[in-house]
Amino acid sequence: MSRKYLIAGNWKMNTTPSESVDLISEINSLVGQQTQVQVCVCPPFTSLQMSSGLLEQSEVQLGSQNMSAEPSGAFTGEISAEMLRDLYVNFVILGHSERRQYFGETNQSVNKKVLAAVQNNLKPIYCIGETLEERERNQTLDVVKSQVQEGLESFPINEVDNLVLAYEPVWAIGTGKTATDEMAQEVHSYVRNLVVDHFGDGPGSGIRILYGGSMKPENATGLLSQPDVDGGLIGGASLNARSFCSIVQSAIEI
Ligand code: PEP
Repeated sequence: MSRKYLIAGNWKMNTTPSESVDLISEINSLVGQQTQVQVCVCPPFTSLQMSSGLLEQSEVQLGSQNMSAEPSGAFTGEISAEMLRDLYVNFVILGHSERRQYFGETNQSVNKKVLAAVQNNLKPIYCIGETLEERERNQTLDVVKSQVQEGLESFPINEVDNLVLAYEPVWAIGTGKTATDEMAQEVHSYVRNLVVDHFGDGPGSGIRILYGGSMKPENATGLLSQPDVDGGLIGGASLNARSFCSIVQSAIEI
């Protein structure tokens, strides 16, 4: 089953709206017209409206870094799926390890967001991954298994085409330590089997599983060449247009 690579940039809490103009414009001029690899940028909420305007004629898609599971109402400080769709946001990162670690998100609470996203025509990029302690205790596969099973509970089979997973070992995020190509492939292939068991061979084989954790131009080709690595979720390196687009270029060349 051939899966189109997705290279997504998670800008985290970086870039003011005016800084975002420069970054989006540079990314757009480098990869905005190619269609071989899908590219997505996820700026902070405050830059989404402006980014949406700048990407109107571009192949680069827009994503957000989080959203509420609630449709509307008295949830001060939250942003709904409908608000994001209205800005032509297409993807939403959910369950990132920083949301789990600092904001108390759990497989169960993220599951509600994943379901709300697809009900509103947003494509979830659902993040999973083990901590260093869990890896050292040989619990990696058990941890990702419960993250997949609980986070995707009741996920509608007819929406599987819109689901993206991101395996991000927590110990590799923002640390400069990357999983080796083999370590990444081992977990990706395990996750592939889980989703094939859960959704069936056809739908499960089509789900893209991104790798995230200190991916950069120097290690992208090795990671992206693994049979079950279907793209990257890029943090630090996505803040530099040349680095980010060089990862896109690696994916194009594979
Ligand atoms: C991330 O935050 O999703 C990430 C992978 O960050 P970094 O690339 O900086 O490790």
